[in-house]
Amino acid sequence: MAQEIRIGKVMITEEEINKKVTELADKVNADFPDGELVVVGILKGCIMFLCDLTRKLKSEVRLDFMRVSSYGSGTESSGDIKIKKDIEIDIAGKNVLIVEDIIDSGNTMVKLIPELQKRNPLSVKVCSLISKPSRRQVEYDADYTGFEIPDNFIIGYGLDCDEKFRQLPYIAEADIVEL
Ligand code: IMP
Ligand code: MG
Repeated sequence: MAQEIRIGKVMITEEEINKKVTELADKVNADFPDGELVVVGILKGCIMFLCDLTRKLKSEVRLDFMRVSSYGSGTESSGDIKIKKDIEIDIAGKNVLIVEDIIDSGNTMVKLIPELQKRNPLSVKVCSLISKPSRRQVEYDADYTGFEIPDNFIIGYGLDCDEKFRQLPYIAEADIVEL
């Protein structure tokens, strides 16, 4: 049966996002007030959050990106991750901050962190805007988490459904309409 995804109920407004990003930046700044910090954004969902967060950071930031796949075009985690694009900066001896849109099953972070640890960074921390604790398949919590939400599939502020809706300035529920 054909489906259409529509923008559903707004879950997190633009104002709420702004306030939370400032709070998260304050926490990161408390831990990394100066010195070097390699910020690794997990594409593509991180984009809006990464831009807003890094503009508030006080340390000497260098940016890099990874693309890992855990989802196809649907809404369920496959459990496996594949590194589709790797970082280019050498993180040996550096503090690393991974910036992620959402921690869902936890599979991505549980598999990605050990991969980065193999490269001998000084530290690896994770800042995720959103977490869906009830969806975990593995035990994992980010070092910095913005919002904890129930098990709804959400879109906007970088988050997509089938590559659409990333540009919304707020976060909404995805309304899946059977046609
Ligand atoms: P995990 O490995 O299951 O924790 O998957 C995390 C990734 O799944 C995120 O980086 C998102 O790209 C994607 N994801 C999980 N939940 C949602 C959602 O509600 N909307 C959009 N993408 C999601
Ligand atoms: Mg993602």
